[in-house]
Amino acid sequence: MHDWAYFEEHFPMVLHALKRAKKAGTLSHAYLIVSTNADFRREFPLLLSCLAVCSSPAEDGAPCGKCVNCTKVLEDLYPDSHTLAPTSKAREIVIGKDAEDIDTLRWFEAQFHLSASGASGWKIGIVQEADTMNESAQNAFLKTLEEPPGKCLFLLTTGRASRLLPTVRSRCQILYLTDNKCEYDFPRWGDVPGILAELVAPCRQEERLVKAYDGAESLIGIASSLYQAASDEAQKEWESRLEQAQDLESAGKKLLEKRLEGATGSRYRRSREQFMSLIHTWCALLALRASGIPPEALPNREIAENMGDLPEKVGEKRAFKILDHAGVLLSSLRVNVNDELALRAFCLNASLKSGM
Ligand SMILES: [Zn+2]
Repeated sequence: MHDWAYFEEHFPMVLHALKRAKKAGTLSHAYLIVSTNADFRREFPLLLSCLAVCSSPAEDGAPCGKCVNCTKVLEDLYPDSHTLAPTSKAREIVIGKDAEDIDTLRWFEAQFHLSASGASGWKIGIVQEADTMNESAQNAFLKTLEEPPGKCLFLLTTGRASRLLPTVRSRCQILYLTDNKCEYDFPRWGDVPGILAELVAPCRQEERLVKAYDGAESLIGIASSLYQAASDEAQKEWESRLEQAQDLESAGKKLLEKRLEGATGSRYRRSREQFMSLIHTWCALLALRASGIPPEALPNREIAENMGDLPEKVGEKRAFKILDHAGVLLSSLRVNVNDELALRAFCLNASLKSGM
């Protein structure tokens, strides 16, 4: 598990603000932790719980991680902490019938009305993957978020903040743990940010279709150059072995050709993955900038350098919708959908639908 120091190193601004709130006694009663990293979503609520309940915090407010309270939290033994998570079958959090209906919102809320709070005085409620609460569960939870029973700390996590009702989001303080750091060294990667900026820039209604078309053509052009580049690289690396193979009998030649094919394939898959991640990362940066995160707090900020005032122009709501579309693109390509179709769908969605 990543510890407090790890998060402090990677998300200094977020943790600085939290420590300051702890020292000033102004911790919010509800935080929404937004991260595309599933480990962070699982781990950070525990560290945030430590921050609240630690009995011997450091001078700057950071939790010690060693006192009785911290230990209990980290070992998942803290008596006044309850976790609600989507059940494995439906991957959904529902309201439920009553307090006896385990793993439902009613059950979860009842824990805070029933149990008396212990030594630290805090009752902690963690809602993992809060976006899997269906709409009625979210609406029901609103009241608790508005008027928490006693000294409660609610910690919600999500990878897709835009799936939460705006009313739920607005009642939480949002913490962005953005770990989008991606690697890219495929041919023409430098063209991608410019193409995306052009694609999502606000424009007149009648120009949008043209933009979607142009954007798709450019991205497809890059995507299709990846295979050729991978093939060229593999050929080059295998050059001498192929030359020697001239003297081999046909079975030996065939085997070599097969291996070359394999080398080309794995290179291609790697650069294709990088290409898609770069699109997703750029969209994540756009959304984070639009939601007011300063550029210096962002990973991979080099690809967001030329965004200018685009994030403000696009706006937070639309930027997060675009990010959702990029997420769909990323996941659809992992299941081997036709690249060209997936890119066209993304461009249409990013320039048209999400603009409305
Ligand atoms: Zn402690």
